[in-house]
Amino acid sequence: MSFQSLGLRAELVVAVTKKGYNTPTPIQKQAIPIILEGRDLMGGAQTGTGKTAGFTLPLLQRLMATEHQGKGRRPVRALVLTPTRELAAQVAESVRDYGQNLPLRSTAIFGGVSINPQKQKLIKGIDILVATPGRLLDHVGQRSVDLSKVDILVLDEADRMLDMGFIHDIRKVIGLLPKNKQTLLFSATFSDEIKKLSNGLLKSPALIEVARKNTTADSVTQIVHPVDKNLKRKLLSYLIGSNNWKQVLVFARTKHGSDRLAKQLITDGIKASAIHGNKSQGARTRALADFKAGKVRVLVATDIAARGLDIDQLPHVVNFDLPNIAEDYVHRIGRTGRAGNEGEAMSLVCVDELGLLKDIERLIKREIPKQEIDGFEVDPTIKPEPIKGRGRQQQGGGKRNGKKTGNKNKGKRKAPGKSPSSSPWNKRTSSNKRSNTQNRTRHR
Ligand code: AMP
Repeated sequence: MSFQSLGLRAELVVAVTKKGYNTPTPIQKQAIPIILEGRDLMGGAQTGTGKTAGFTLPLLQRLMATEHQGKGRRPVRALVLTPTRELAAQVAESVRDYGQNLPLRSTAIFGGVSINPQKQKLIKGIDILVATPGRLLDHVGQRSVDLSKVDILVLDEADRMLDMGFIHDIRKVIGLLPKNKQTLLFSATFSDEIKKLSNGLLKSPALIEVARKNTTADSVTQIVHPVDKNLKRKLLSYLIGSNNWKQVLVFARTKHGSDRLAKQLITDGIKASAIHGNKSQGARTRALADFKAGKVRVLVATDIAARGLDIDQLPHVVNFDLPNIAEDYVHRIGRTGRAGNEGEAMSLVCVDELGLLKDIERLIKREIPKQEIDGFEVDPTIKPEPIKGRGRQQQGGGKRNGKKTGNKNKGKRKAPGKSPSSSPWNKRTSSNKRSNTQNRTRHR
C-alpha cells in the first residue's frame, strides 16, 4: 500500500517520499482514511509507530480543503496539544516537513522560553498551532491567541498529559474551542481517566489500536543486568566502553541524579550531557542537538524530559534507574527500535528495585532475561532498602554494608548459581536461570 492510495494529495506524498517513507505504517494505514473522512478518532499507539505522520498528513489535507479565504489574520484552525516542549517542537517540525509544499503556516509554543517571539509569530497568523497546555493558556490570558476557529483538535500523548497533571488546563482549553470540531486523541494507554476525558469530548470516535496496551515493540531486545547500586555507574561506563556504543540514551530517576551521572561519565572519559526540566530550553535543545549530531555519546534524561525525543535509529537505551511507574518503562524503551529499526534496552537493576521490576514484568506480560556481568555480580548479602533517597547513594563503587564489592575479571558473563538461596534476587526472580542462557533473547 502506498501513501497515494490512502487518498493523500500529491504535495503530501512528495513530502513523505522526500523523508524516505515508502510504505505507510499500520497506524497511518488505519488513521489516515478515518481522519480524512472528518471522523473523531481515538488512537492507541505507542511512540515510534509513526503516529505523528498518521495525524499530521490528513490534518494538513483537511485544512487545505477549507483554506482560509477571508481577509485579516489567519485564524488557528488546527491545535495540537502535547505534554512536553520537546514533543511540541518535534511535532511542529513534522508539520513543517510534511506540509513543506503547502501554503499553511505552523508554529510551536511552549514554556521555558520567552513568550514575546511566540506572540510575534501568532500575530502574523498561524494555521496549525502545536502547544503545551500551560503556555497556551498564558497566551490566551494575554490575548495573543484566539482559539474560537479551531476545526481540528489533536491531543497527543494524552495519557502523559494527564500523568503530568494537565487535566485542568486541557479542560480549560477545550472550553475555549468551538463545540463543532474534529477531535483526535492519541494515547499509549487507555486508562479510566483517558476514557473519562474522551467520553465528553469525542463524538462516536473510530477506535484504532496498533500495539496492544502496554506492550513493548518487538524490535527492541530487552535485558536486565543485576548489579549492586554502588557499581551501577562503573557498569554503565564499562558497557559503553567495551561495546563501543556511540549513542546511548540513559534514564535516571531524578534531575540531580542525571546531572551527577553525566558528570561522572565525563570523568570516565565518556562525553555525556544531561537533559531535564531544570535546564533552560536552550540547554535542552543544545544537548539534544549535540547528541543527535554524535558530538555527545551519552544523553542522560529524566522521564519527562525524554518525552517526544525522536532520534533516528537510536540503538541503545539504558535504564540506570528503573522508573517508579511501570508504564514509563514502555515509554522509555520505545525510544529505541523505532520505525522498524532494531534496538536494545538494558536495565541496570539493584536489589532495591526488584519490586519495580516485578511491576514492569507484570505490565508487559513477559519476564525480561537477566544477565549478570562478571566483575559486577550482585552481593547476595545486601538487603533491599527503600527506594526513597536512593539517588544519593549512587556514586562510585566501593563498600556497602561493610563488604567490598570489587570488579576483578569484569566483563565476562557470570556463571549462574553462586548466590546464596537467601538472596532477594533468588527469591524474587529467576535471574540465575536466565543468565545461564548467555544470550540476549529477543521475545516476540
Ligand atoms: P512517531 O511515532 O510519530 O514518533 O514516529 C516514529 C519515527 O518513524 C519517526 O522518526 C518518523 O520519522 C518515522 N516514520 C514515520 N512514518 C514512517 C514511515 N511510513 N516509514 C518510515 N518511517 C516513518
